[in-house]
Amino acid sequence: MKQRLLFLGPPGAGKGTQAQRLAASHGLLHLSTGDLLRAEVQAGTPLGQEAEAVMARGELVSDALVLAIVRGRLENHQGGWLLDGFPRNLAQAEALDALLGELNQGIELVVLMELDDAVLISRLLSRGRDDDNEDVIRHRLGVYREQTAPLITHYRERGQLASVEASGSVEEIGGRIEALLV
Ligand code: ADP
Repeated sequence: MKQRLLFLGPPGAGKGTQAQRLAASHGLLHLSTGDLLRAEVQAGTPLGQEAEAVMARGELVSDALVLAIVRGRLENHQGGWLLDGFPRNLAQAEALDALLGELNQGIELVVLMELDDAVLISRLLSRGRDDDNEDVIRHRLGVYREQTAPLITHYRERGQLASVEASGSVEEIGGRIEALLV
């Protein structure tokens, strides 16, 4: 089974939900940069203070900061992992490749979760996180299209990408993802 995975897709596609489920059932480390950043904000660390306003605007936190978080978690981890919300731009993807090279590891599969904008927006509005108001959501979708969506081509060209239709029940979507891992 593939166990070094990357989840890609717009905000609201359900990456976090599926990543958490899959990580729990397969014993993988679930590394969500969004969750880790929110924890830093909550704890009021210097890193959290730096990230807070940027996240509230729906923009990307600096690559260096996010990379430091990912490096810290992956360096000391034995076994499989699932990256959710990282990389989010080409520079982060290249930094990840370099880090994985150092660790003698490679990505085994990139799962792209696809969903219509209208559904994404209504899902996010009903979630109601601090950065889930309509203006910030539209901004996050714009950032996704401009900065993160180019990674689709990047990983497709490397033959690592598989797409999943992200509508339906949590279980249905989970089943589609599981089928890609064998
Ligand atoms: P969503 O998938 O709904 O956008 P996330 O929890 O993945 O939610 O991200 C929330 C916010 O955290 C982003 O809008 C961004 O400000 C910040 N963030 C998360 N991951 C990254 C990353 N890899 N690089 C830069 N900023 C990030």
